[in-house]
Order: sequence, then structure tokens, then C-alpha cells
Amino acid sequence: MLLFQQIDSRTFRYRIDARSRIVFVNDSWLAFAAENDWPVSQDDVIGRPLMSFIADEQLRYLYGLLMARLRTGRGPLRYRYRCDAPDARRHMEMLMLYDPGEREIELQSKVLRIERRASQDLLCTDHPRADDRLDVCSCCKRVELGQEWQEWVEVEDAVIRLRLFDREHLPHIRHSVCPGCAEVLSRLVHRGPARPGPASSSRSATS
Ligand SMILES: [Zn+2]
Repeated sequence: MLLFQQIDSRTFRYRIDARSRIVFVNDSWLAFAAENDWPVSQDDVIGRPLMSFIADEQLRYLYGLLMARLRTGRGPLRYRYRCDAPDARRHMEMLMLYDPGEREIELQSKVLRIERRASQDLLCTDHPRADDRLDVCSCCKRVELGQEWQEWVEVEDAVIRLRLFDREHLPHIRHSVCPGCAEVLSRLVHRGPARPGPASSSRSATS
């Protein structure tokens, strides 16, 4: 149920160098990470490989292909994804730009809209967990019901269909990529040449 909507006008920016190491994050990116139970500082992330922050192997592979495409000047690339909180669906957009002068890729995320919802224990990091596991798509935040269903559904639907509301200990969450999102990212990798679009070389803006 959509309770109410919010807006968030910030742009979360970070940059990676030619070796895909993080060389810049803006203040909004750090604030957003902290708001999502990941309180990191510049020192924690600068110099770290981007891929070390991506848990799923398939997503690392697809991101590698997207970065390779950008570095050949076939960008910018743009796609939509979700970055949910337990009590909110956050619909986001990612813009990836290559800056040939600095040989860096800039990744900019924006919130398109936020839908509030009843808090979902499955997404609360401090909720007690059992030994079993559920896959959640890193991109659309849908939950895989299980191998037998081969179906990915919103977390609220998964709680009902898997009768998770009866359980004191919930399954662990494993970050994955659903087939639909894998196809979207693959199409982004393989589509025809895009209009080259230089990124701003300025790292100072912290919108
Ligand atoms: Zn997905």
C-alpha cells in the first residue's frame, strides 16, 4: 500500500579510475550510505576496487562489461533500479559517464520517487536470522520465491507466499540478479553505439 511519497533531490556521485578503483565520492553519497546502515568515511572507500562492493558475481561481470563499453566512448549509460529501505521503496536512476580527460568513469544516482510502506522485517539488518537463505535482486529488490517457482516477487508478496510472517527467525538475504534485470543490463552492454557524452571533470560539486 502506498502510504505517501517523498522526494529526495540529492545526486549521489562517485568516480572510478582506469583500474576501477574508487577515487571520489561526494558528501551526499556518504550521507546516503550512512542512512542505509553503512556508515563509511572517505578513507574507507577511496582506493578500494568498485567490484569489492558488489556482492553478486553476475552483477560484477555485467558491471565490468558496462565499464568496458563506457571506456570505448560508447556512453553515457542510464538505467533504473531500486535501493529500498525496510520502510520505503526507492525508485532510482543510475547515469554512467566516461571522462576521457581524467580517464575516469562517474556514476551518478538519483532518487526518482519514494513510496513509503509498512516496515519489512526481511530487509532489517538487525532481525534474527535462521540458516536458510533467500535471493534478493540487487537491482529491482524482488525476492526469488525458490527454485521450484522460478518467480521473483516484491518483498511484501514473498512474505505472504512463503509464510514468513509466521517465523521468528527469517532467512538470510543473499544479493543476486534476477533474470529480468540481467537482461536489461545485458541489453545496455550490447545495444548500438550511443552518443558520446563527456562527464564533467569537476569533482567539487556536492549536490
Ligand atoms: Zn531484478
